[in-house]
Amino acid sequence: MRRTGRRDTAPELALRRELHRRGLRYLVDATPPGTNRRRRADLVFRGARVAVFVDGCFWHSCPVHVHRPRANAAWWQVKLGSITARDRDTDARLTQAGWHVVRVWEHEDVVAAADRVHGVVHARRPAAGRNAVRSRAAG
Ligand SMILES: [Zn+2]
Repeated sequence: MRRTGRRDTAPELALRRELHRRGLRYLVDATPPGTNRRRRADLVFRGARVAVFVDGCFWHSCPVHVHRPRANAAWWQVKLGSITARDRDTDARLTQAGWHVVRVWEHEDVVAAADRVHGVVHARRPAAGRNAVRSRAAG
């Protein structure tokens, strides 16, 4: 049985490799500081305050690959619906805490996904070193 919270999936490893190759550094499977410790992100960029999730198409109900099992359909609808609701709740909590959330589908092209993450991290990276981080965190 596959688990929703498993880490180190192939798409996640590919994204990590691509971002690392570009010189980006991040925490893996970590709780973004200042948020609920039970909600972990796949990648955390602390300085830029960017949290990245690599979502599996099945468990997170990717719109391109919608697949609802026929057996126990009602149960699956509730199950998958609750995962999606939890995702949106996580997004809201992180945003409220000053984080930028990037969600990547497991089916996405790894270079395109890395471009997206890279762009956001670059744009939000503090320009003037630690003092800038502190003043931003205070505000
Ligand atoms: Zn998909």
